[in-house]
Amino acid sequence: MKLKICLAITYCLCSISVRAYDLTLLRNSTSQEIEQHAQSTLAQAQAQLAKLKALPSHERTFENTARAFDIVFEHLQQLGATLELLVATHPDEAIRNAAQASQLKFNDFAIEELEGNKQIYNAIKEYTPANDLTFEQSYFVQGLLNDFKRQGLDLPDEQLEEVKKLQKKISELGLTFDRNINDDASTIEITSDELAGVDSDCINSLEHHDTLVVVPCTRAIYSQIMENCTVESTRKKLYYAYNNRAYPANSLVLNELVQKRLELAHKLGFVDYAHLALCSQMAATPERVQQFLKHLREQSESAYARDHALLIEKLPVGITLSDGNKIKPWDVGFIDNNYKKTHFDIDQEKLAEYFPTETTVPAILELYQNFLGIEFKPVNIDGLIHKDVKTFEVYNNHACIGLLILDLYPRKNKFSHAAQLAVSSCTHRNPESVVVIVTNFPVATQQKPSLLRFDDVETIFHELGHAMHSLLGCTELAVFSGTSVLRDFVETPSQTFEQWAYDTDILKKIGCHYLTGESLSDEVIKKIQKSEKFGFAAFIQRQSFLALFDLALGGENIGDIHSLWQTLRDPIMRHIATEDQTHFEAAFGHLFGYGSKYYSYLWSLVFALELHHKIKQGGLLTPDGGTEFKNKILSKGGSVPPECLIKDFLGKDATTAALLEQLKLA
Ligand SMILES: [Zn+2]
Repeated sequence: MKLKICLAITYCLCSISVRAYDLTLLRNSTSQEIEQHAQSTLAQAQAQLAKLKALPSHERTFENTARAFDIVFEHLQQLGATLELLVATHPDEAIRNAAQASQLKFNDFAIEELEGNKQIYNAIKEYTPANDLTFEQSYFVQGLLNDFKRQGLDLPDEQLEEVKKLQKKISELGLTFDRNINDDASTIEITSDELAGVDSDCINSLEHHDTLVVVPCTRAIYSQIMENCTVESTRKKLYYAYNNRAYPANSLVLNELVQKRLELAHKLGFVDYAHLALCSQMAATPERVQQFLKHLREQSESAYARDHALLIEKLPVGITLSDGNKIKPWDVGFIDNNYKKTHFDIDQEKLAEYFPTETTVPAILELYQNFLGIEFKPVNIDGLIHKDVKTFEVYNNHACIGLLILDLYPRKNKFSHAAQLAVSSCTHRNPESVVVIVTNFPVATQQKPSLLRFDDVETIFHELGHAMHSLLGCTELAVFSGTSVLRDFVETPSQTFEQWAYDTDILKKIGCHYLTGESLSDEVIKKIQKSEKFGFAAFIQRQSFLALFDLALGGENIGDIHSLWQTLRDPIMRHIATEDQTHFEAAFGHLFGYGSKYYSYLWSLVFALELHHKIKQGGLLTPDGGTEFKNKILSKGGSVPPECLIKDFLGKDATTAALLEQLKLA
């Protein structure tokens, strides 16, 4: 089927030019080459560190000590991110295995030779910062010393060895946790009749075993079926399969991970892991986060109750409620979708017809181009991870600042969520970064091209927000580059750009029917806006629950993890019935990666909404706001404390006002 091309940027395809970024491992590498490359990078780092350690104290300068450390860090960070990408996305199992084996060696090296090395710590301590250091340089040296102290470098050798042993074990458990999620291949097998209500095109795109349809537990398929399938037993069956991914394997891993983290925190002098994890963040303490989450829950409580009452007022045919008028968990998506169809005249499947991936993504890239004054030029790079990936060189002020790789469609053993990963970071030394966006958008079928559901549109705005941060966050030092910011600030640019998906002018520019070429009308846009705002309170409650659970895992005496999940869930998600046969936590990847910091999404959302409010006053389509956002937020990376960046941009401290306003409007 031929797509009607509208709004797409017209590119001339140029061949890859010789650039500073290194794609060696991402292009047609063998597993042996991956292992060799990892080994030689570590050996090189070892030699650089030996040189750094050997310097007499009176000869130490910023260049030969602090910057030398940063250079080693940069090389290791590149290796670590590349291995992570290969493990998460490479179609070849041998490559994924080789990358994971190298990841283990890499993690051990980073702990032993860099983060937990007393000689390196002493070298940094020996260096007396000169008076002429820039703010970024002295912020780095001070931060580095604080990090070393927090990691136990002042402890006696024997105790430090125990700390390092625990750190290695924790990173090993984390790798296993992530890998179990990626490798999960859960499916359910049902007849076509049992998929009544689901788009036939979607059903046809699935694998069939004789008379049975094999339904995979991927996010895109899960949403389509849970929202549209009229057969309750199917929704229930899929709900159980999806929410038991990586179970029971990861429940065991999670138990051990939590125990080891607590042991580590105790050895480092903290009451629990959450206090250790948060002490260097904006929020500083778990108590402050709990207070913040409580405030948001209280503020959204009445809207949550109001929306629930509306949802159950007139239930779809055949739907019944549980005791206490609670919605059964496998009916949540179906009831919500039905309500939106009835009250806002929004049908997610029909709406997706306005967002064909092949034209919507370029149209969104064009928005970023105009707003930030940058340029994307498509390039062909053979043998890069998978044949479906698309690559763009990115230019800022006519200078190439790196490569953007889009890996948009699902495949077997690929990371099943959405993410952005900077494979190489952007610094004054090396201003060209390599940034990869990984998503799992619906695939094209024989009848239809790939069509983005509205939450996919939000996702691409979000991930491109991270990508812009990585590409434009060009700092002097690699430790501060791009998204190397405090974890509870990192979701700020991404969620700022996510707000664009609800803007009238933006939707007019990106929405275009795949058959008729027709743009979204004002009337439909208003419906989308109303429909998307509905449920914001439920979103706040759910995110708050997940954040509390993640934080609680970092506490003391938490008991059985699954019981903890139930105990925290029921009073917050109180309009949804309880069931205890699922284990969502086993596939909740953030529990490792964010470790007690999942609250960062809501914490950053507060800033994102304030920043968006300010940008919107000047107009989202005007480059002035974009230039200011680029200069004051994105370009700084982590080289300035986030509070200062926000204040500089807003002209005041951030408050929850914009978020509360959104709740009122919902
Ligand atoms: Zn994000």
